[in-house]
Amino acid sequence: MRLGRYAAAALAGGWLLSGCALSVNQELELGQDYAAQLARELPLVDDPAILADLELVTRRLTPHTRRREVTYRFYVVNDSTVNAFAVPGGYIYLFRGLIEAAGSMDQLAGVIGHEIGHVELRHSAEAIGRAQAAEAGIGVAGVLLGGRTGARVQQGATLAGTLVFAKFSRDDERESDSAGVALLTQAGVNPGGLAAMFETLQRLERSRPSAIAQWFASHPMTEDRIEDVNRRIAADPRATALLQTGERDAPEFERLRRNVRPLPPPPRRR
Ligand SMILES: [Zn+2]
Repeated sequence: MRLGRYAAAALAGGWLLSGCALSVNQELELGQDYAAQLARELPLVDDPAILADLELVTRRLTPHTRRREVTYRFYVVNDSTVNAFAVPGGYIYLFRGLIEAAGSMDQLAGVIGHEIGHVELRHSAEAIGRAQAAEAGIGVAGVLLGGRTGARVQQGATLAGTLVFAKFSRDDERESDSAGVALLTQAGVNPGGLAAMFETLQRLERSRPSAIAQWFASHPMTEDRIEDVNRRIAADPRATALLQTGERDAPEFERLRRNVRPLPPPPRRR
C-alpha cells in the first residue's frame, strides 16, 4: 500500500501531468514532507524501549538494502488495526495491531521486508507518475489507513485533503513479496516468515475480521501470495536451507510485542 503527498507539489511542478515517475530527489523531498505531516496526524509511539527493540529487528534487514540514498526509518502507530505502509523515501509505519498479531520475529520481519521492497523498487514513485492529477484526494488517507486512525484522519481531513493514494498493482505486491523474501534470506532470517504472517492474517480474518479488513483490502489474494512466496523460496537453495536453519524468533521481538500490548489507546483528538 502506499500514500503520497504530492498534489500541491505535483501541480506546481507540472511533472505529474506529464506522467513521469518522480525523480529520486522529488521522492525523498515528498517523503520527508509526508513523514512530517504523519508525525502530526498519527498517534506515533515514542516509548524508547519499544523503538529500541524495533530497531534491533529492522537492523537485520536494512544493511542488505540497495538504495544508498534512502535511510530507512520505522515508526509504530498506536492503532490496533493490523496494518503497515511505507511512504516514499523509506518511512515505514507499523501498526501496533500488526506487531501484536505477529507470531514470531520472522513474521514481523517478513512484513517489514515487504514494505522495504516497495521502497527499494520505487513503486510509489512510479505510481505517482502514473496517477492523474489530484482528484482522488478526499478521504483517501482515511480509507487507506483504515480502522480508528483512518476514521480520525478522515474527521480531521487535514491529511485527506492533501493526499492521494497510489494503489499498487498485483505485480507490485508480488515483487515486494519477492524482495522481502530476498531480504530475509540475506539477513539469515527464516524466509518462510512472510508466508507464515499471511497465514496468521488469514486466521485472524476469520476470528477478528474488522481488525484486518483494511490490510486485506490493500493486500488481496493472499492464497496466491503464499504460493508465490513458497515458489520463490523453493527456487533459491539458500532460502530453502533457511527454512530449517534461519532465525525465527528473538528476545527483542518478544519484548517488543510484550511492551506494545499494554499500551493505552491514544487520547481522542476531537
Ligand atoms: Zn504492499
